[in-house]
Amino acid sequence: MISIPVQIVCLGVGAEVPGWWLLQGAEDVARYLVALALANQWRVIRVLHMYYVENYSPSVIESVLNIPRSSVRGYVQRINTRVGSQRAHVLLRQLIPKLKTVSPVVNGDKCMLCNRPVDNMPIAAHIILFHKDLVDKATHSILNRVERVERAPAADK
Ligand SMILES: [Zn+2]
Repeated sequence: MISIPVQIVCLGVGAEVPGWWLLQGAEDVARYLVALALANQWRVIRVLHMYYVENYSPSVIESVLNIPRSSVRGYVQRINTRVGSQRAHVLLRQLIPKLKTVSPVVNGDKCMLCNRPVDNMPIAAHIILFHKDLVDKATHSILNRVERVERAPAADK
């Protein structure tokens, strides 16, 4: 319904050139998304999916999900400042579907890994702060699969 023109950026993947996802910021974005999934924050991931994959505007997302458009812009800004808007679209289109393989470790306001209540800080922040190894492992697992897709000879980009 709302269409934001999305230009596929030149990925610059060559035989000896590291993948564009290794550029500064892309891993940070992947880590943030993984932390959201581990923290069971699927509402935020849904916002990001609507914005980056389905190309809805913040005002449409506000009306559909009942999340203030200022919050939507905040989530988007957090990602765009890391990798830029164009690269963020390409990156999130690949990363978001892979988050389905990440099992949440939070039940309500309780972390099932350490049994600490996590209501005194954003849940994703708790995961990043106290369970860094798990976040690292899941992040690298997902980025490795992006790498394989991007390096496939018949990439349809
Ligand atoms: Zn915990």
